[in-house]
Amino acid sequence: MSTTRSITIVGAGVAGLTIGHQLRQNYQVTVVERNDVVGGLARTWHYGDFHFDVGPHRFHTENPKVAQFIRDILQEDAIEIQRKSGARMFGKFHEWPLRPTVLLAMPFSTMFRASKDLVFKEHLDGESFEADVVNKYGRTLYDIFFKPYTEKFLFYSPSELHRDWARAGVNRAIIDKRASADSLWNLLKTTFMPKPVETTFLYPPHGVGRFADRLSESIQASNGQVLLGSQVSAIETSGNRIVAINVGGQRLPVQNLIWTGPMNEVTRLLGITGLDLEYLSTIFYNLELKRPDKMDFQWTYYGGDEIFSRVTTPSAFAKTTLPTGKGALCVEMTCREGDERWANPEKYTDAIIKDLVRTKTIDSAADVERVHIECVRNTYPIYKLNYLGELKRSLGELGKYSNLLLAGRSGRFWYNNMDHSIGQGLTMSDKILRGSVLSQIDDSADREFWATEDDGDVEIREEEIAEPLDEPKA
Ligand SMILES: Cc1cc2nc3c(=O)[nH]c(=O)nc-3n(C[C@H](O)[C@H](O)[C@H](O)COP(=O)(O)OP(=O)(O)OC[C@H]3O[C@@H](n4cnc5c(N)ncnc54)[C@H](O)[C@@H]3O)c2cc1C
Repeated sequence: MSTTRSITIVGAGVAGLTIGHQLRQNYQVTVVERNDVVGGLARTWHYGDFHFDVGPHRFHTENPKVAQFIRDILQEDAIEIQRKSGARMFGKFHEWPLRPTVLLAMPFSTMFRASKDLVFKEHLDGESFEADVVNKYGRTLYDIFFKPYTEKFLFYSPSELHRDWARAGVNRAIIDKRASADSLWNLLKTTFMPKPVETTFLYPPHGVGRFADRLSESIQASNGQVLLGSQVSAIETSGNRIVAINVGGQRLPVQNLIWTGPMNEVTRLLGITGLDLEYLSTIFYNLELKRPDKMDFQWTYYGGDEIFSRVTTPSAFAKTTLPTGKGALCVEMTCREGDERWANPEKYTDAIIKDLVRTKTIDSAADVERVHIECVRNTYPIYKLNYLGELKRSLGELGKYSNLLLAGRSGRFWYNNMDHSIGQGLTMSDKILRGSVLSQIDDSADREFWATEDDGDVEIREEEIAEPLDEPKA
């Protein structure tokens, strides 16, 4: 084993830790993480016997290599759970993906208009999310669900967003292949089919963060370092190489740098200006309840005028996430880092509890025993209409540094899931071990919504996973 070569990884999320884990035998690995715990967006907050993830998190993948890796890491620390999620629309809770009950709950006039959309198809040109949804589902469903939900969630109108937002978000939410949603016809057709076979997921009994804990432990067991509470605040360069980073006033020399933090942060630290890549942030209200949960959906989208967009029920993932006889809810309210919500999140607690009661998610405000508020930056990259051009420009500028590699959800400005970040980490570390120059490692094959022209096909295709590795370049 050689310890002369070293690699510094910024970010202890699943992408950074997967890479660190895979390289730990061949490189001296240092992981630098600004939070006090590992896991990034896939961490778990532990408050006594209550364990809350960052919203809903469960492992699912169609990539056999990733599935095996997840099982190898979690070993006995994983249970299999059935999928059960919901959506609140037209004043009622429904199963998600949508089942016939949602159509019955629609006011007759809405159903009539939605059906008319099928016959008199409107066609919008362009690459916007609005065009994508209107062309697939019709103007009526766009007006009553997609537009208000998107504006509430992202603070942008679908007309200002790129259609990749639909490809990555809406399409991926419909994991069950029989519940294809590439057109309103298919949505209706599959909605009336018999209930599809349930998909199963893996979940660690005390929260998803266990996966990151295990990776971090194995890196440290191989003499690697995981530095917590350590934010990178400056990057030093020499010509086309990064030579050091600054962490808490301390200069750390760098041979190879893998960056999984936000792309707009690494460009700022390198003095690259004029790029327009924006991320959404989220405030999580983790509620301890005096009584067991009423809801058994793992998560529920709220499509009405509630202040929040989604509610997760940890007990529906595993009863081991909370004490017996209690309940727990994780309520998500999106915001922008630095805005009024971000600055004063506690001001919204009463409104949230009121909306939970109004929507019959809980019976009464008195059921809430304690609220823990957690503010998380960079939860989603925002795919504005100009995002592809900005992303290309950004990658072009950053590609000039030969020993820099961007990875992960925020690092690649990629609206993805854990399995994508893990799969990308496995592919990238294979390429590094085969000698690829960091700046030349590409990730475009990992993005299923870039790789296909067929909007309805959201599966990760086998040939993309088994993509041959680059020959060593250096
Ligand atoms: C609400 C929500 C629900 C989700 N549900 C699911 C789900 O059910 N299933 C699923 O598979 N996926 C889900 N995902 C997606 C999943 O969380 C991500 O795909 C995955 O965790 C991304 O991992 P990552 O390592 O790429 O990035 P991150 O987890 O973002 O890791 C990046 C790390 O870099 C650190 N960092 C940033 N800047 C600096 C700096 N300057 N210095 C030091 N450290 C820095 C951050 O603190 C962070 O820990 C969900 C995401 C969200 C937001």
